[in-house]
Amino acid sequence: MQMDSVENALLSVAVNPLLKGLISRFDVECPKDGSLLLNSLKDFLGEPISLCPTCQHISRNIAKPFYEVGSRLLKADKDFMRNQFVKDKYGGAWFKGFGLMMKGIEKYGIRIPFVPAGPFEVVWNFTYKCNLKCKHCYEDAGSGKLPELSTDEAKQVVDILSKIAGVGLPALSFSGGEPLARKDFFEVAAYAKKHIPYVSIASNGTLLTKDNAKRVKDVGVDYVEISIDGASSAVHDEFRGIPGAFEKAVKGVKNCVEEGIDTCIATVLHKDNFAETEKILQLAKDLGVRFMHFNYIPTGRAKIHVELDLTPDERLYVLQAIGKEIISLYLQAKEEELKTGKSSIKVDRFFSTCPQYASVTKELSQQIGQKFMVEAHYAAKKGVENVANFLGGCGAGRLYCAIEPNGDIKPCVFFPTNDNTVLGNMLKDSFERLWDNDPLLWQLRVRENLETYIVNGKEVGCGNCPDKYICGGCRARAYGYFNGNVKAPDIGCIQNKPLWERIVLKET
Ligand code: SF4
Ligand code: SF4
Repeated sequence: MQMDSVENALLSVAVNPLLKGLISRFDVECPKDGSLLLNSLKDFLGEPISLCPTCQHISRNIAKPFYEVGSRLLKADKDFMRNQFVKDKYGGAWFKGFGLMMKGIEKYGIRIPFVPAGPFEVVWNFTYKCNLKCKHCYEDAGSGKLPELSTDEAKQVVDILSKIAGVGLPALSFSGGEPLARKDFFEVAAYAKKHIPYVSIASNGTLLTKDNAKRVKDVGVDYVEISIDGASSAVHDEFRGIPGAFEKAVKGVKNCVEEGIDTCIATVLHKDNFAETEKILQLAKDLGVRFMHFNYIPTGRAKIHVELDLTPDERLYVLQAIGKEIISLYLQAKEEELKTGKSSIKVDRFFSTCPQYASVTKELSQQIGQKFMVEAHYAAKKGVENVANFLGGCGAGRLYCAIEPNGDIKPCVFFPTNDNTVLGNMLKDSFERLWDNDPLLWQLRVRENLETYIVNGKEVGCGNCPDKYICGGCRARAYGYFNGNVKAPDIGCIQNKPLWERIVLKET
């Protein structure tokens, strides 16, 4: 039994009843001051705040000592917290994330990995419409014939999201299809930005003309991710199915950069563009934008082209190439900080949606005597290595979930849409009830459930892996390769290579 399994057992018996009771003392709504949970955190971080005598008493005598002990246990630096929660322009999102985390502990206890009372991020496949015909589209988009929410219904979804667990959603991402293909995109995005602190879009970039990039900026979108599948039009256009798509997408990136929007290029790496890995990384650097590697997941149209999936060795190569870029930035920032006391170098530039990215960056940094790791999808903040097992790698149905164009809710956009994966609908069901009770979500949240297989006398699979609490394997890939079994191994991982050889190469 691994240490974190033991810790989970101890937490559930000895610590959780105490914690739940303690948090419930300051998770109250004051008619005068509002949420004491959030106000007491502001008080703890030294932000000037005026509270009624009762709130002040509870904040000083219960909440503050609790935060003090909690932050020491998690080795969370108070200055770092103050910078993120109070000084950062996305402090509102951080506060909501914190509120969801505390309410999650109050509801479900502290667990490894932890489960907040609502997702930190929702990816909303806003439309099935798309002007491209990409081979790997997880949504099988393009037909535009399936029913979608109306503008008013979409705004109702935003209203519900903005009140999740009584705290509200920190971050919403519009995806698709192509979100800009819907005529009411700007209206709904502007509405969302009024209610949700961080709003982003994932786009194929071809509709991001100068005018549209300006409108994106004007409605307050914080981050734009544009898909680029090759360093040249030959590779990108062949995969995206439309000539000229590369040129338009690169122009879209440049238009967003010119508007001062935080921009990223996102690439699904597979057999046909694997050889361009370094060139695409260089393209991101030349364009002055972030880079996000998207894992190949056999779902939607990508399931028909499963032969494009990378082998475990190729995937490891990709993760190491990206990992070396972010570690190099981390070292430069550290050196500057040592010399001048602070650094202006942005480290969070190179990411992967592979949850194994945490293991790979951990190992690469250990090889050079450093302690640094990047959590899957986005977290490259200082101090993440202390809480990596709480963040827990794959966040499907735990830190994040997905909404379909008709309002159906799924654990992750990379799960296929069927009766087993749709949890309910935003307008027909209570989100909170689904989040608290859905059996599929709880299967995805508990790492002790992950399976182990014996191949040639050797144990493989995520179940017995020492990194399962910082990674957990991509559950959508497990679903795709094991006919809907979300507890199965992610066979794209180097640790599970014997299973890849048995299942894909049909070796015994
Ligand atoms: S075996 Fe599973 S949990 Fe371990 S590193 Fe690989 S994918 Fe992650
Ligand atoms: S299943 Fe998990 S690791 Fe895979 S794409 Fe979804 S959130 Fe990411």
